[in-house]
Amino acid sequence: MTIETLKNRPLMNKEIHDLIVSHEKVAHVQLQNPLDHALLVLIKSGYTAIPVLDKDYRVQGQISKTEILDSILGLERLEMERLHDITVEAVMNPKIPRLNTDATFGKALTTSISHPFICIEDEYEAFVGILTRRSILALINRYFK
Ligand code: AMP
Repeated sequence: MTIETLKNRPLMNKEIHDLIVSHEKVAHVQLQNPLDHALLVLIKSGYTAIPVLDKDYRVQGQISKTEILDSILGLERLEMERLHDITVEAVMNPKIPRLNTDATFGKALTTSISHPFICIEDEYEAFVGILTRRSILALINRYFK
């Protein structure tokens, strides 16, 4: 199948609604949380990275275990005692992909090539949930079977 044929398939124009992991089920932290809290949420949830929200439930970035550990890396050891004094905001990555609830599956697929998850927002920029690479691949798998 050529790229052109694939592009014209209705799959690419499908809406993403049904694929979204709802915000109630998404592990997240807030900007002003200390890093020890963020690390706890990351370890307990088992995810490498999770979204960062502000107090109005808007997406501000994402934070990963690697960013946290990097931020406390001293010359010879991890300075764990600093975890409580650094905020999530100081360490998070603010450059993350985000899409609206009405984005097409094609747009989500392209975005997911470089990002394990995409934050989904409504028309007021409130956090709706995430779209994971797993759910995108699962749909493609169903479609081509
Ligand atoms: P997956 O495609 O299921 O492996 O998910 C990709 C990435 O999305 C994970 O590595 C996490 O960073 C993030 N993720 C998936 N599910 C959740 C969740 N329920 N809460 C927070 N982050 C999640």
